[in-house]
Parts: sequence; C-alpha cells; structure tokens
Amino acid sequence: EAKKSGRNAYCFYEKRMTSHATEALNIESDLRKALLNDELCVYFQPQYRLTDGLLVGAEALVRWQHPTQGMLPPAHFIAIAEQTSLITAIDHWVLTEVCRQLVEWRSRLGCGVLPRISVNISGRQLDQLNTAQEISRITHDNGCQPQMLCLELTESFLMEHDEESTNILKELSQQGFELAIDDFGTGYSSLRYLKQLPFNTLKLDRSFVKDVIDDEQDAAIVKSIIALGQHMNLVVLAEGIETQAQADFLIAQGCEFGQGYFYNRPLPADKFESLLRTIFDES
Ligand code: C2E
Ligand code: MG
Ligand code: MG
Ligand code: MG
Repeated sequence: EAKKSGRNAYCFYEKRMTSHATEALNIESDLRKALLNDELCVYFQPQYRLTDGLLVGAEALVRWQHPTQGMLPPAHFIAIAEQTSLITAIDHWVLTEVCRQLVEWRSRLGCGVLPRISVNISGRQLDQLNTAQEISRITHDNGCQPQMLCLELTESFLMEHDEESTNILKELSQQGFELAIDDFGTGYSSLRYLKQLPFNTLKLDRSFVKDVIDDEQDAAIVKSIIALGQHMNLVVLAEGIETQAQADFLIAQGCEFGQGYFYNRPLPADKFESLLRTIFDES
C-alpha cells in the first residue's frame, strides 16, 4: 500500500515537473518574441527626499505587455530570463529605452536637470566580457551621459563573480555612473562589498521596511542599516514605503531618501512625464 501511494506521489511529482519545464520553455520563447515585437515597456517609480518631498530620481521597472495575458510584472519572467542570456538582452533593452526616454523628456520639457533614472542590472551579465564597455556604449550611443543614470545591483550576485565584478563596477564608477546596492540586507556577506566596491547608494530592502512599526527586530535592523550607510558615507534610500508612519520612522532615523506606494506606484512614462511637468512648471 505504501509502495503504491509512493509511486503515485512520484508520478504526480513528475507531471508537475514536466508542466513547470514546459511553462518555462513557453515563457522563454514568448519572451524572445516579446523583445523583437516591442512588447516590453518601462514604468518609472519616483524617488523622493523624505524630509521635504523633493523628487530626486526614479527607478525604471520593466513590464511585459503580453498579447493575451495582459501586463505582466517582472516576477513572471525575470527569473526565467536570468537562466538564459535573455536577461542581458532585456537589461540592455531597458537601458536603451530609458536613455531614449530621457532624451525625449529633455527636449520636450526644456533643459531643466532631469531626475536621475535607476536601472536594474542583473548580476548574471557581470561575468560577460565587456559588460562595462557595453553599458557605457549604449548610454552614449543613445545621447545620454553616465551621470544621468544609476545602476542597481543586488548583493546576491556580486558574490558570485568576485574579482571580475569588482573590476567592472570600478570601471563603471570611473565612467561616472552612480552605483546602488539593491535589496540591501537580503544577501550574504554584504559588508565586505560595501568596503571594497564603489557604491554610492544603499537601498534598504522593502522586507525590513514593511513591519518596521510593529516589529522591534525589523526596527533594530532598519536603524542599524541606516547608521551603517551613514558611517560609510553612503546615500541610504528605503524601498517599499507604504505609510506615513513608516516614512516618519525612517526620517527620524536619518534615512534621507525613499520610494514606495505611499508616494507613487511605478508609473507609465506619460504619467511620469506629467509629474515632471508639474515640477518644472512650479520652479
Ligand atoms: P526591485 O529592484 O527591488 O524593485 C522594487 C520593486 O518593489 C518593484 O517591483 C516595485 O514595483 C516594488 N515596490 C515599490 N514600492 C512598493 C511598495 O510600497 N510596496 C510594495 N509592495 N512594492 C513596492 P517590480 O516592478 O515588480 O519589480 C520586481 C523586481 O524585478 C525588481 O525589484 C527587480 O529586482 C526586478 N526588475 C525589474 N525591472 C528589471 C529590469 O529591467 N532588469 C532586471 N534585471 N531586473 C528587473
Ligand atoms: Mg531595483
Ligand atoms: Mg530593490
Ligand atoms: Mg526589493
């Protein structure tokens, strides 16, 4: 009896595996087509100075306008893309699109200084040859300067390519790109990277901000990360601020910058442009 149910369990498991694998395969080939057919788009989530609400930047977040499934968030496809070379193509497409958008906004809104746009770069491409040159080439070829951009990298990937990624980040920093360490506190051995690598900004992960008001341990972690950032002369930017109480807590602890639904959800480019217009009209 036990053997029988064991065998059934095995069959069930195998079926699941197969359907997962098929699903991944479909997403992969659909994603290839999506890149060719311009089905990806970029949303922009504003980033603010917390004390006075000054808009300081925005994070570019990729979306997939799927022909049958509607607007898909990155959770549906980034992990699969990261298992293939597709992630490099996606990240380069996003960078290109952000540059194109910046140039368009610059000409449409007059020559005011535009907020810096942060672009997520998967560590998966850091081990590729000429990564820094490629990022720099895309930026310049599309009419932008490195100073207009910030590159966000996660700690979990940094440790996978130790020496190489160090050199790539140093090169990007020398060229003038701002560098942010994304989702800080969720990876491993992050402190060594803070010391060795030329990061400007530390992004405090949303998972710690979420319960900062009710959970003493999260509060302690958040306070410590903010203090760490300050002592290391890094800009600290909190992710995922959803309430006034969270914002107040962060401000009281000296966290200077943040983003989150409390301020704005990620916005389509035209909505972000409207926001820029209201700011430029005021000043
Ligand atoms: P991330 O870089 O940490 O981006 C922040 C995520 O938090 C975004 O999710 C954003 O929509 C979400 N978020 C912002 N504020 C709040 C809030 O107040 N509450 C909650 N619950 N969520 C908030 P999104 O757009 O779904 O992106 C998820 C992740 O996908 C990103 O996390 C990033 O790791 C990855 N990603 C997005 N775009 C790209 C891309 O172009 N390239 C690569 N390699 N990864 C990307
Ligand atoms: Mg990010
Ligand atoms: Mg993040
Ligand atoms: Mg995050």
